[in-house]
Amino acid sequence: MTHQSNSRAGRCTAISAARLFDGSGAATVTDPLVVIDGGRVRSVASGPGAIVPADADLVELPGATLLPGLIDTHVHLAFDAGFTPVASLAARDDEEALAAMTVAATAHLLAGVTTVRDLGDRDYLALALRVRSGPVLPTILAAGPPITIPDGHCHFLGGAASGPAGVRAAVREHVERGVDVIKVMAGGGELTPGTDIYASAFSPAELRSVVDEAHRYGLQVVAHAHSVASISDVIAAGVDGIEHCAFRTPGGVEVPDALVTAIVERRIAVGATLGIVPVPGLAPPPGLARDLPAVRVAHARLWKAGALMVPATDAGIAPVKPHGVLPHGLVQLAELGASNVEALLAGTSIAAAVCGLADSKGRIAPGYDADLIAVDGDPTTDLTVLQSPVAVFACGHPVVPTG
Ligand SMILES: [Zn+2]
Repeated sequence: MTHQSNSRAGRCTAISAARLFDGSGAATVTDPLVVIDGGRVRSVASGPGAIVPADADLVELPGATLLPGLIDTHVHLAFDAGFTPVASLAARDDEEALAAMTVAATAHLLAGVTTVRDLGDRDYLALALRVRSGPVLPTILAAGPPITIPDGHCHFLGGAASGPAGVRAAVREHVERGVDVIKVMAGGGELTPGTDIYASAFSPAELRSVVDEAHRYGLQVVAHAHSVASISDVIAAGVDGIEHCAFRTPGGVEVPDALVTAIVERRIAVGATLGIVPVPGLAPPPGLARDLPAVRVAHARLWKAGALMVPATDAGIAPVKPHGVLPHGLVQLAELGASNVEALLAGTSIAAAVCGLADSKGRIAPGYDADLIAVDGDPTTDLTVLQSPVAVFACGHPVVPTG
């Protein structure tokens, strides 16, 4: 393979492979030729119609499957996936944090994750990261500091607010800073000692105010909610997405039928917290360890009921969740009951739609961003091949050598 180097000026890139999974849900195509030009997909052909244009440099990937770049709908670039991510971030000034976030974003890209949605940073650094010059990075969507109660989950990121007027003001500040989505912490979390995972953090009036104000500006609201109480409250408030959605109570996991029905019927996007790499000697916190098997059962039930569900890794929050862990999340989604094809769609075009990017990401089709990856073998029969991509293109830029 000698053709992958940066295309000469005025020339485009044609990529040939053994198979194409285009993210649309259509059957896998054999012997595809994808032409990318100026950061977009120009054409997709196969068989006799697949002729390399005269202005194209050819990249040949025999035996490989081309598919859309993966999309992780829940990451924290500001957390470094170390043993003490909160303290490590606190010890970094913004410039140092941006350097660490560049490393984190690059790890996603090398793993084939070409779009990340950052659901909680400090000082809107993820927005700063995406406009600064530097190495090729994934496309970054960002929520800025999550809106949280004073002393609530991740309050140290700077998004504390209270009262209906206070949370509306917080949403407006986020809008002015240019966020893509509003993240609200509807309950406590493992990362923040002293917060209550099982209770609702905000009042119903505050949650409704967050949703109303965000929707006035055309932004979605995704809520961090582990507990039945917080899930119930955020559904009532009309959120667009629920992260974790673990149905935890002090006594264990309970899944009320009415909440399952509401999530399915209202097409609320469930970010199932999937994607783990085992780290020897590292166990989950005790409460989570107790509940995790039942949370998986709850997610399997949501999936079977037809919920809109995507694998959402929470990458960065712990060593078991390194940046770029999403391919493992697709395997876990399949373990919950998704077919391999369904898992691939969830990590590409469905994740794109959840992020509001259905027209530009998650598919390989003319006009779409040239975010594509190649893996050895066929991921529709073996999802583990996603764990070592042989080529990655981000908006047309080759970032994993194809040789
Ligand atoms: Zn998170």
